[in-house]
Amino acid sequence: MPVATCHCGAVTLDLTAPPSEVTECNCSICRRYGVLWAYMPPAEVTIRTTGPTDRYVREGGDQAFQRCATCGCVTHWQKFDPAFDRMGVNARLLPPDILAAARLRHLDGAETDRYLD
Ligand SMILES: [Zn+2]
Repeated sequence: MPVATCHCGAVTLDLTAPPSEVTECNCSICRRYGVLWAYMPPAEVTIRTTGPTDRYVREGGDQAFQRCATCGCVTHWQKFDPAFDRMGVNARLLPPDILAAARLRHLDGAETDRYLD
């Protein structure tokens, strides 16, 4: 079972399976975070914390970007709508071999919201 972990280890996300693809998005927040997202249903992710977390919600936003309050690593995002069956896990927190095995995709979140590849 792949485990994504922040740098200090206070936040871990257990995935039921390694992601087949990860997404680099060029939208205003993703390009700043520099993350790679693995999109998956929340039911396939178990989040464990042993320390404080913090979050960021853009003004009027419908989702929260979560991070470890100790080391600052962005860990995931989730929509406020519980019926939305997708969340984003920061694949950069996965072991490098698992990340390397995933297909890298580029999402034009800034303009068209479509994949560029
Ligand atoms: Zn941490």
